[in-house]
Amino acid sequence: MKSPSGRRRKARAPRRTAPPRILGLAVLLVAASLVAGYLALTRADNTEPTASSGTRGNTPKGSAGQSQEEPWDGKTKILGDGSTSYTGPQTGELKAVPLKPGEKPPQFVVFSWDGALAGDDELFQHYRKMAKEYDAHMTFFLTGIYLLPKSKRDLYAPPQHKKGAAAISFPTDEHIRTTLEQLGKAWQEGNEIGTHFNGHFCGAKGGGDWSVEEWKSEIDQFYAMVENWKTNTGFKDIAPLPFDFKKEVTGGRAPCLEGQANLLKAAKGYGWRYDASSAGDFQIWPTKKNGMWDFPLQALPYDGGDYQGLSMDFNFLANQSDGQVDGDPARYPEWEKETTDAYMAGFNRVYYGSRAPLFIGNHFENWNGGIYMKSVDEVIKNVCTKKDVKCVSFRELSDWLDVQKPETLQTLRTLDPAQSTDWSTVVK
Ligand SMILES: [Zn+2]
Repeated sequence: MKSPSGRRRKARAPRRTAPPRILGLAVLLVAASLVAGYLALTRADNTEPTASSGTRGNTPKGSAGQSQEEPWDGKTKILGDGSTSYTGPQTGELKAVPLKPGEKPPQFVVFSWDGALAGDDELFQHYRKMAKEYDAHMTFFLTGIYLLPKSKRDLYAPPQHKKGAAAISFPTDEHIRTTLEQLGKAWQEGNEIGTHFNGHFCGAKGGGDWSVEEWKSEIDQFYAMVENWKTNTGFKDIAPLPFDFKKEVTGGRAPCLEGQANLLKAAKGYGWRYDASSAGDFQIWPTKKNGMWDFPLQALPYDGGDYQGLSMDFNFLANQSDGQVDGDPARYPEWEKETTDAYMAGFNRVYYGSRAPLFIGNHFENWNGGIYMKSVDEVIKNVCTKKDVKCVSFRELSDWLDVQKPETLQTLRTLDPAQSTDWSTVVK
C-alpha cells in the first residue's frame, strides 16, 4: 500500500541546499548582531556582591518540569526575593488528545522569538497582539542577561569568557522594565517563555565548544538572573512575574544553533522537554534526541524551490543581502515577497502533505527595512486562520506529541513533507 522509505528517498533526491550559506550562519549571526547595534561589551565595570545571584548548584532542587507539579491551592505564592510568583497553571492551553483512528493530524505551526527583549521597536508587544488576534500561542526564548542590569554584569561568569562578558549588549534599565511587563503579559495570554541562554557566544569558545558542565553553568546562571531581577535591579514598583521559571522553562534555542550535543546532556537534569537548537533537514515529524523532543529550524523551498533555505530571518538575510542588515532598499519588496513565499511554500508543502509541524524562528529586528517582520506578519495572518491549523508554542506541541501512540508517530515520520496519505493507514 505504501512504501514510505522509498518515497522519502525519492523526494529527498532533488534537494539542493546552499550549504555554505547555512554553514556560514554562525559568522553571519555575529556579523549581523554587531551591525544591528548589539555591541559586544567585554570589560567588567565594577565588582558587585554575589549573594543574590551567580551560579547555583548544578542540580537545582524543586520543580523543574511538569512531573513535579503540585496541586494548586488557588493562592498566589511569591517566590524567592519576589521576582517571580506562582499563580496557578497557565490557562487556555492546547488540550492534548490522541488522534482518533483515521484522523488527519492538525497542522501545527510554531512561531518562536530569540532574545525577546522588549526594546524601543515594540516588537514584543506587536507579536503578543498578533498572537491574540490570530488565536496563536508563541514561544519567546528569553536571553537571561536581558533581566540583568549592566551595573551588575559581573554576576555573570560565562563559560570560557571573562566575568561580565557577553557578545550582545546588556539591557538598559528601562528595557528591563518593559521586558518584565511583556513577559508577564505574554505568559498570561498563554504564550511560552523558554530560554536563549545568556551571553550569546558563538564560534570559538561559544556554545559549540562548551562541555556539559559549562552548559549546566550557563543554564544555572540563566535561572539565577531571571529569578533575581528584583534584587539585582532594585526595582520596588514592579509586581512579581506571574510564573515560576523553573516550571515554565522547559526548552530553549542555543545562540547560533551551536552546541546541541552537550546542551542536551546538560538540559536533561532540569526536566526540560525539548530543544530547538538544531538546523534540520526537510520538514519531518519530530523525533526525540536524548529523551527530549528535537525541534529544528527547517529547510524550506526557497527561490522558487530551486534550493532549500533555513526557516530563520538570518538565513534570508544571508541569502538576500549577504548578511548586510541595510541592503538596497529598491529590492526590499522583492526580498519580502521571496521570504513570504518561502514560508508559505513550506507551509503548503506540509499542510497538503504530511502535516509535519512547521517551525519558524526569528529575532526582533528591523533588517532591510523590517521586511522579515512583515513577512512573518503575513504568514501569521495567512496560516493561523486556516482550517485544521494550530499555531502553538513548542511546549504545547510537546504535550500533543507526548500523548500520541508511539507507532503513529513512527509512521508519521516516514512521510515526506509533501506526501499526503491515506490517514487510516497511519493513525490506527
Ligand atoms: Zn540569537
